Amino acid sequence: MCSSYKHRPARYTDIDAQLLKIFDATPVPMVLSRPDGSFEYANPALREMLGYSKEEIYSSDVIISHPDEAEINQDIRSQLKTDPFSPIRIEKRYLHKTGRIIPGYLTIVAEADTQGGIKRFISQIIDQTEQKRSHDQLLLASYVYKNSSEAMMVTDANNLILDINPAFTNITGYKLTELFGKSPNCLNSGRHNASFYAEMENTIDQTGQWSGEIWNQRKNGEVFAEWQTIDTIYDDKGSVLRRIALFTDISKKKEAEALILQQANYDSLTGLPNRRLFLESLKHEIRKTQTTGLSGALFIIDLDRFKEVNDALGHDQGDIMLRETGNRLRQLIRESDFVAHLSSDEFAIIQSEIGSPQEIEMTANKILTKLQQPFQLTNEQVFISASIGISLFPDDTVKAEQLLRNADQAMHNAKRAGQNRYQYFTPAMQKQAVKRMNMIRELRYAVERQQFELYYQPIIDLQSGRIVKAEALLRWHHPLNGLTSPAEFIPLAESTGMILRIGEWVFTTAARQLSNWRKQGHTELELSFNASPLQLQSDGIQPEDWLQQLDQLDIPADSMVIEITENLLIENNHKARAVLDYLRKGSMKIALDDFGTGYSSLAYLKDFKTNYLKIDQGFIRNIPENNNDTALCETMIIMAHKLNMQVIAEGIETDEQRLFLTKAGCDFGQGWLYAKALPADKFESLMNKQTRTNLLASV
Ligand code: C2E
Ligand code: MG
Ligand code: MG
Repeated sequence: MCSSYKHRPARYTDIDAQLLKIFDATPVPMVLSRPDGSFEYANPALREMLGYSKEEIYSSDVIISHPDEAEINQDIRSQLKTDPFSPIRIEKRYLHKTGRIIPGYLTIVAEADTQGGIKRFISQIIDQTEQKRSHDQLLLASYVYKNSSEAMMVTDANNLILDINPAFTNITGYKLTELFGKSPNCLNSGRHNASFYAEMENTIDQTGQWSGEIWNQRKNGEVFAEWQTIDTIYDDKGSVLRRIALFTDISKKKEAEALILQQANYDSLTGLPNRRLFLESLKHEIRKTQTTGLSGALFIIDLDRFKEVNDALGHDQGDIMLRETGNRLRQLIRESDFVAHLSSDEFAIIQSEIGSPQEIEMTANKILTKLQQPFQLTNEQVFISASIGISLFPDDTVKAEQLLRNADQAMHNAKRAGQNRYQYFTPAMQKQAVKRMNMIRELRYAVERQQFELYYQPIIDLQSGRIVKAEALLRWHHPLNGLTSPAEFIPLAESTGMILRIGEWVFTTAARQLSNWRKQGHTELELSFNASPLQLQSDGIQPEDWLQQLDQLDIPADSMVIEITENLLIENNHKARAVLDYLRKGSMKIALDDFGTGYSSLAYLKDFKTNYLKIDQGFIRNIPENNNDTALCETMIIMAHKLNMQVIAEGIETDEQRLFLTKAGCDFGQGWLYAKALPADKFESLMNKQTRTNLLASV
């Protein structure tokens, strides 16, 4: 089929009618031409391919061969001349009526006449536009695959690696030979937990796609961040054929982002959050109080006389001091608290979810003590102190800026009042704080000045009505306020650590008292004393020493009972457990005080053997009116007995309560119905009276 051929319409009579039908029906473009090359017949498929009508196609003006292919056409003609019966097969380009180039595959065969000469040529042109396009696309895809800066990985339906591109090798360091047939999880960095991967797999299974940030590991062990997109190719039946993962290394971008974030939110000297981040965090904490209902405190901490040090020793020394201050503050806060460096020598702490005012004071005292410790500068040691202003949220205000001004004002008040102290913004809080501070000061001398006394409250055997035990309860004869309740001063003693000394005094005094009573013949009496969790958690108690004291006083250790609260067991404090284990091995008894007010976990009761369970007076108070409480008391008694514990009911005030508890099988009772906590001599006479008459009637 050559453009230079003179076209002439076919004389159909020359062509077999049967053949013509086939030519007309076939979808393959066909041309019949005469030995001289002129068109005899062009079938509808050819006309359609080239865009011409039946009338147009035979026109001599129609050029269907690409103009650049004159030389090829010439070659074809010569070949047909010299060797007409050898079929020709060649790729050629044709022109559509619109000028579009059509790639085609041309086949020409010759039909012989009866004399063995050429009757005609039959040509067939296969339109290769589609093949060519997909071939080009494949070429392009392969080019992109090889040259992309994005790493690509192809896996099969079982998620085993089939191929990776050069960018993948560049980024990860792995070659295809090292990864072929392996699972991509050989790239896992260990930075994500199992649920991260499970969720990712789940998304891919459900949607076929996933994209997100992921940390992977290069061959050299380096962990890097990448942005990954995973897609799935399915087969005709909808089953997974291939998965394709594309990713770019975003480590550099992340580093840059982190740096920007660091510079915008952190102070370069101390590495602490700056004012901006602090204010944001403060607003967040204030908002949180709306849902938790708990208060928070803002502490503004300003170093006293910092300017003097800075001026005298130079700014570099001042910087060392500020850095060290930052470190110290960071060390003393809880994980949930927030510390920031606001400006030169001003720091801030946000303490959230505060349970009691003591917690605030404990933090303030810790800050003061920590900053009083010497600062080691390049050549010398320097001592300074700090003034602290405290404002509470949401109590004082719920506006962050206002809160900051409040705390700042309180801090200046602390400076004016003589530095090295803390002040509250609210006058009422300040008044209470002063009262507590005075009490703490007085508490310090209470042991030496012999202001403490132990009172003893009898514990009655409910069956016999006899005093069989006593609980030692601490009293403070305050020089001005008179007899002060432990509820008022024990928390203060705990917050300052003074409880350790006081606790020792309680133990020794109780032991000596018991020894006296034993000498008087009360050898069956058991004496219990209260121990603060703090005593057990720190190195406050030397259990060996206690057992030795008892030995020296000739007291069998099982006559003493240590009362602890259940929270101590739950907090899983190893130190406390070890102390209690030691005491128990030395046969001291253990009572679980105020049971029912804490977690009341059965699991802990089962694991940790205690001798007595003391039902808190809160449950006894409403017996027999409150059905819930009566049911709870009964349950606690049954449960304790099942666990081989005996039960002491606290706070029995009425005969109904005593009767109910006795019927419920409770072993012992304690409360005002029998006696209040009494000074030793009064308790002693009560015991002596009992030995003479059975004072307290049994049921
Ligand atoms: P607790 O160990 O649960 O002591 C029982 C408290 O209930 C005592 O209060 C006692 O006087 C009071 N009470 C007894 N019977 C009745 C009653 O029938 N009705 C009412 N309303 N109250 C009754 P107290 O002596 O004020 O002690 C309070 C808490 O202080 C004690 O609770 C204990 O947790 C603590 N405490 C007392 N002495 C010490 C001590 O030496 N060391 C330590 N760490 N804490 C102590
Ligand atoms: Mg107690
Ligand atoms: Mg109690």
